[in-house]
Amino acid sequence: MQTYHGKSVFGGIAIGKIKVHQKGQQQVRRTKIDDPDAELARYEAAKGQAIEELAELYDKALREVGEANAAIFEVHQMMLMDDDYNESVENIVRTGLVNVEYAVASTGDNFSEMFASMDDDYMKARAADVKDISERGIRILQGGGNGMEDADEPAIIVAEDLAPSETVQMNKDKVLSFVTVLGSLNSHTAILARTMGIPALVGTDLEAFGELDGKLGIVDGGAGIIYVDPDAETFVTMQAKQAEDLEKKRLLQELKGKDNVTLDGRSIMLYANIGNIKDLASVLQNDAGGIGLFRSEFIYLERDTFPTEEEQFKIYKTVAETMAGKRVIIRTMDIGADKQCDYFEMEKEENPAMGCRAIRICLRRPEIFKTQLRALYRASAYGKIAIMFPMIISVDEVRRIKAIVEEVKKELTELGLEYGEPELGIMIETPAAVIMSDELAKEVDFFSIGTNDLTQYTLAIDRQNVSLDEFYDPHHPAVLRMIRMVVENSHKAGIWTGICGELGADRELTATFLKMGVDELSVSPGSILPIRKIVRETDLSK
Ligand code: PEP
Ligand code: MG
Repeated sequence: MQTYHGKSVFGGIAIGKIKVHQKGQQQVRRTKIDDPDAELARYEAAKGQAIEELAELYDKALREVGEANAAIFEVHQMMLMDDDYNESVENIVRTGLVNVEYAVASTGDNFSEMFASMDDDYMKARAADVKDISERGIRILQGGGNGMEDADEPAIIVAEDLAPSETVQMNKDKVLSFVTVLGSLNSHTAILARTMGIPALVGTDLEAFGELDGKLGIVDGGAGIIYVDPDAETFVTMQAKQAEDLEKKRLLQELKGKDNVTLDGRSIMLYANIGNIKDLASVLQNDAGGIGLFRSEFIYLERDTFPTEEEQFKIYKTVAETMAGKRVIIRTMDIGADKQCDYFEMEKEENPAMGCRAIRICLRRPEIFKTQLRALYRASAYGKIAIMFPMIISVDEVRRIKAIVEEVKKELTELGLEYGEPELGIMIETPAAVIMSDELAKEVDFFSIGTNDLTQYTLAIDRQNVSLDEFYDPHHPAVLRMIRMVVENSHKAGIWTGICGELGADRELTATFLKMGVDELSVSPGSILPIRKIVRETDLSK
């Protein structure tokens, strides 16, 4: 048994097979060979295995999802037997005297580009398929497993690091836990793991983690440990701990339907943070009073092109309707910093966390902003939507935003489209916004404090940089004083303040926040009931 330690992102026990997630596509190196026949014999063998795998996948899919959906695996088999494809591989190997992995990768790239440039939609769609079969071939040539075990079983995902765009694209039902070597507690991958409510570790001291693929692992999220090939005693202990955890969760369910009120009568709104409509089930299961932060940028990160107004409208409408009259705070997209989206074609920046991010993109490129605002305003006719703007630093920005909002409303009226009157709020996540909060409070309906960014900009510590942990104090008095100042300024202006950064879920601070007069905490769905428990057991008069 090997034991590795990391930082706990979310508690709970996960037991299952480890799946190592490799960055992007397989790395293929070009090497010189001197026996092309031997190289092509390897290709024939790999092709045979690929066709067998595809036949098995076809049978499985036929049983589980029907003929129409299984057909794609037949198409892949046919593509692997296609003469043009095979001749291209052979030609590259023989003329260039290069390894067959390189020939397969080049053929895959060339063919997929060719398909992508065709007018016919069906042929265009084949571009991804030809890439897929080439990647399968390369994996087999490189001695990788057959990849089929991954298709079935939920697994513990182990990776060096995960970009938010990679994490959002994973099939959530197949992920038992995330364990990464890099990554910080405030990274968006950590935040996604919390939203999913699964045990997760970052900054884990894994060595040669590529060799862990397929091994049995146990993640103890609370203790910050991953056991690989656990011995019998650990296995039994962890199974018992898992059962205990489930029992605790079951007991927390008894708090559903109860108020978030302290023993001495002070109440607080407890809302949920989400990044996707798929998170709504756990929002309802955990009895959130509303949604305090819908990170809409994940809609953009999941796609290869800008989401249309119609696509966004449908998503926001679904959230509003599902929450049935409860407040749903949707933050306009916060692309930039670690949440990069290629199709935005942003200029490369030395320091993207302090670069063109979030509202700055929106104000510079109003066509993107207006598309989102139109979708939000239209969806607000179907529920209690509130709109929140990120990364604000000045009153002037808020006024510019409000002017754009007026233009959007006018356009919708002219088009005869129905829309509601959402509340407008801002995130307080820059020191500038804190200092200006008395002025800003006169402009908007509510504040939500983004402690993740507020902490990074106040302490001048990059939230992604794990190596500065010795200087990083999540409870730094500067940040706590700022929170108090914002709450006081908001109350003076008659508006409310919430906290939607990760600090909001810090149970050591729940009583402090209550004392400061924080009106709302927005946390990952799995943290709602544990915080409700603390609130109900707190007596502020003592
Ligand atoms: C924050 O900065 O605290 C916040 C909630 O926004 P994000 O983590 O998405 O930057
Ligand atoms: Mg932020």
